[in-house]
Amino acid sequence: MGRRQVSGDARRIARERIEILFAQAERFSRSYGEGSDRCVALARRISMRYRVRIPRHLRRRYCRRCGAFLVPGVNLRVRIHRGKVVATCLRCRWQRRYRVVRRNHGQTHDT
Ligand SMILES: [Zn+2]
Repeated sequence: MGRRQVSGDARRIARERIEILFAQAERFSRSYGEGSDRCVALARRISMRYRVRIPRHLRRRYCRRCGAFLVPGVNLRVRIHRGKVVATCLRCRWQRRYRVVRRNHGQTHDT
């Protein structure tokens, strides 16, 4: 079997599936935590296989090191330190920092 060319259509569907998986992860996280991690794992596999990036707003929702679906106040600690957000995954202690950029909507911006 040769390497299939990934069509634009397949990638669009892959992106949709990633969104859906994260929405599912969100639901799982309220009841049974393990299920949401599996959704994240699946979404990451789709992203690699179809070479689509996980959208920025979703990239914050999982730990890149241990693959946990992150829920602020549950397994994610968020602190503001010198104008930067320090987000810590409470499972593996992995930290990521991003700058707080004050825009119209007070959104944060990845660095
Ligand atoms: Zn982690």
